[in-house]
Amino acid sequence: MNRIRTIIRIIAALSLLMPCTTADAVDKDGKFILVIDPGHGGKDPGAVNGKSQEKTINLNIALKMGKLIEDNCSNVKVIYTRKTDVFVELYKRADIANKAGADMFISVHTNSAKSKSANGAETYLLGVEENRASANLNAALEENKAILLENDYEAHYEGYDPNSPESMIIFQFMQNEYQKESLKMATMTQNRMTGNAKRPDRGVHQAGYLVLWKSTMPSILIELGFISNDNECKYLTSQKGIDEMGKSLYLAFKDYLDYYNSQLEKAVPVSQAIGNKGQDDELPVYKVQFMSIRKPLGQNDKRLKDYESVSYYTEDGVCKYTCGDTTDYEAALNAKKEVQKKYKDAFVIAVYKGRKISVKQAREIASKK
Ligand SMILES: [Zn+2]
Repeated sequence: MNRIRTIIRIIAALSLLMPCTTADAVDKDGKFILVIDPGHGGKDPGAVNGKSQEKTINLNIALKMGKLIEDNCSNVKVIYTRKTDVFVELYKRADIANKAGADMFISVHTNSAKSKSANGAETYLLGVEENRASANLNAALEENKAILLENDYEAHYEGYDPNSPESMIIFQFMQNEYQKESLKMATMTQNRMTGNAKRPDRGVHQAGYLVLWKSTMPSILIELGFISNDNECKYLTSQKGIDEMGKSLYLAFKDYLDYYNSQLEKAVPVSQAIGNKGQDDELPVYKVQFMSIRKPLGQNDKRLKDYESVSYYTEDGVCKYTCGDTTDYEAALNAKKEVQKKYKDAFVIAVYKGRKISVKQAREIASKK
């Protein structure tokens, strides 16, 4: 009875909590935005073994990874959910990524088990895995318990009870649209941790991690190794361990970036040029510009399906996406308001005889017709 009630409550809460479609930020310089999330921090040490704390291992290795990316990948912007020993709520971590319009979210953690002999690295994406459900369940439950340290956690994870394995059922209903990319990234990470840093391979798995649930982009959670295993704890807290693990994660990210770029190159532009319609028109045409990005979006990109008449033009080497197509300025302003619900920096542009002109010029031309 209790169980059924719990499930009903969770399903009800789900409708409120479907991944919030936070606006993809207007990516002005067209950089790939990576959010690195070192797990735990501040009053939440995560798992511990003697004087070693998970929060410190996660932070050291995450910082190492981020530094290598910043030094070597000029087209990537790295954002951290924390760079110091501070407490950050789980929902805020995802929120940081969502608000930044991140292209990838990587959460870095260290495992713990009752058995001192458990060892090895594993990588997770969000989901439920039938055959391995109970092992993954426990790991995720442990990590999710971090919310017990948050003030007012009930307000942010309605229906989720970190003390109840039954709460995990919510993840069975999730259809994560970023699963393919998340799996790609998880696999590449696992390959580098086992190949480069020579960690025992525990594989790629799925589980219900709250921090992944809330993020609206491809996302993974890494368990670097077991702090509860004395050898692994020693390795992960040593400079050698930090360097090797940081480098492995950096190489994995670079693998993903190559894959990401190759996907973009394969993509077919939606429409090559702006203003085909405006070419012979007597009147200037107004469109709403909502996104600037370094490379064209793939033709199946969900962002292209949000609006009508989506097209793009290139300016200064950047692809600028527009939607709508109207000669009525007032209608364009209304369209802009609509688009701003998702892209708050959206604005109106004008096209006349196949060229972009200022809105002021366009209105002058229109007033003389
Ligand atoms: Zn953790």
